[in-house]
Amino acid sequence: MAKHYIVVDLGGTQIRAALAAFPNRLHQTIRTETLADQGPDVVIQRIESAVRQVAGERWADVDAIGIVAPGPLDPWLGVILEPPNLPGWANLPLKDRLSSGLNRPVVLGNDANLAALAEQRFGAGQGKRHMIYITVSTGIGGGVIIDDKLLLGVRGLAAEVGHMTLEPYGPLCTCGNKGCLEALASGPAIARNARDRIAAGRASSILALAGDDPQRITAELVGRAATQGDPLAIELLQQAGFYIGVGIVNLMKLFNPGIIVIGGGVSQVGNLLFEPIRHTVQARISHFYWENCPIVPAALSDDVGLLGALAMVADEFEQT
Ligand SMILES: [Zn+2]
Repeated sequence: MAKHYIVVDLGGTQIRAALAAFPNRLHQTIRTETLADQGPDVVIQRIESAVRQVAGERWADVDAIGIVAPGPLDPWLGVILEPPNLPGWANLPLKDRLSSGLNRPVVLGNDANLAALAEQRFGAGQGKRHMIYITVSTGIGGGVIIDDKLLLGVRGLAAEVGHMTLEPYGPLCTCGNKGCLEALASGPAIARNARDRIAAGRASSILALAGDDPQRITAELVGRAATQGDPLAIELLQQAGFYIGVGIVNLMKLFNPGIIVIGGGVSQVGNLLFEPIRHTVQARISHFYWENCPIVPAALSDDVGLLGALAMVADEFEQT
């Protein structure tokens, strides 16, 4: 008999839940506010009521629950370690709390890892057994898939592609290290570089797009200015693309993937970012690595987390 799952995407601002079935069917998705500032007990209660609400009369048929949450987290133990956008959640045993509250098995995975799994099963990486996914937005995260399996590591902390050190004495990263890819090429890094260059006297239409207030400069505005041909904005995206390309060179050397999939808000600027990425890769590594490894945009949008949670929970329960 076909199994039924509930999948949940726990974000810093909203919780999404859907009734789901193998391989990729999502039914009646609902969303509700996380209310993260009210602490874990309130949020866990909200997750449980979202799960019961989306299941409705089908609750008795639900076999298991898959939940995607912000990392870092330990998927083996089902424990949230220290997420930056969920205050009070350090070392929270989310899997145990939910499985005893809901009386169902619960599987937990981190958002960037599960986005990778979703892209490989249902999106841009379909048919590729070796894939690397990179998401470039407020942070830079990712996932590595080897031989059709997500690489997790001993505590589930593998594939933090945004925290590879690329400039040992570079700008401070949110993780406390210096010169991580995230500190060099994420949305906030692009905005910070734009502010610095403009403060140093460089003329650019980015400032006018931000209403002449440097504090309102975002990577999205840099992207818009670049699309309109602003030279500084184009340079800033080239610089971000260069660092992402250098990061990809490291990843290609380590894992020899068959495709690189790039998602996240910053990637939506398209070729203005992808061209410098591809150029950097091709200039710095043997063609044996890149000629059979396209670098392509992600294919899934809002549902990527829910689909990743479904792939994860199905991997655990479909065979049995
Ligand atoms: Zn870092």
